[in-house]
Amino acid sequence: MFWETRSIFTQLTVWQTLVLGLALLGGCQETLPPPRLTSQAASRVGPLPGQWRIAGWSVEQRPLMLKEFGNGRDVVFFLAGIHGDETAGILLVDELARYLDRHLELLEGRKVLVMPRANPDGLAERTRQNIRGVDLNRNFPANNRTNGPEAGEIPLSEPEAWAIWQVIHQYRPSRVISVHQPLGCVDYDGPGEAIAQAMSEACGLPVRKLGARPGSLGSYGQQIQGIPIVTLELPEEDSGLDGPQLWARYGKALLVAITWQGR
Ligand SMILES: [Zn+2]
Repeated sequence: MFWETRSIFTQLTVWQTLVLGLALLGGCQETLPPPRLTSQAASRVGPLPGQWRIAGWSVEQRPLMLKEFGNGRDVVFFLAGIHGDETAGILLVDELARYLDRHLELLEGRKVLVMPRANPDGLAERTRQNIRGVDLNRNFPANNRTNGPEAGEIPLSEPEAWAIWQVIHQYRPSRVISVHQPLGCVDYDGPGEAIAQAMSEACGLPVRKLGARPGSLGSYGQQIQGIPIVTLELPEEDSGLDGPQLWARYGKALLVAITWQGR
């Protein structure tokens, strides 16, 4: 057999041998199985940079933008600017979104949702309420809610509150961090005391129970969903800070909330 094979090759010209060799080589490449990712390589594929999507629309048809990072089971939801005149939180949560795009390792096993501008009409007008004069943080269907002009005539009457409510029901976050101003403390509702304490230690603001506000997101989380809702109240003087300065002061507290594993 070997002899026969060699005799065939001795009968070929150099050119024919070259073509045959390339054909065999090409054939070998075609039969190679596709590369298989090792578990280490697969983990590097991991979470991709965040994606923006429209979670809802304001009364004046401004989009409520939500950036979704990662695809893990532990879900953390950050929102800011539900009161349109509390701008420091908006800048801080913008910085969080930028930080997460550069630190995808934080997203292993997690999903992080970021909504920096929960009241875009109020932000445009620099008002606490939305454009219809409703305080969105009194418009959630908590048991302690009362109807009225500033709380809305019915629960979730406002499209912005409705959009936030939908995010919570769609993703079922295991904790929600809502950034406000100007009380300078860390408040919590539901089973959020330990997270609030850890965030307090990371940023220096004291833990302070402000009381369940009627129809607030915190009241809703506590009474209806049992979700820990932490309210990070930045102090008034933070209005003079830019995003990087706010991040330097409070970024660690937000990261503590992301990596929280219970205590
Ligand atoms: Zn507020």
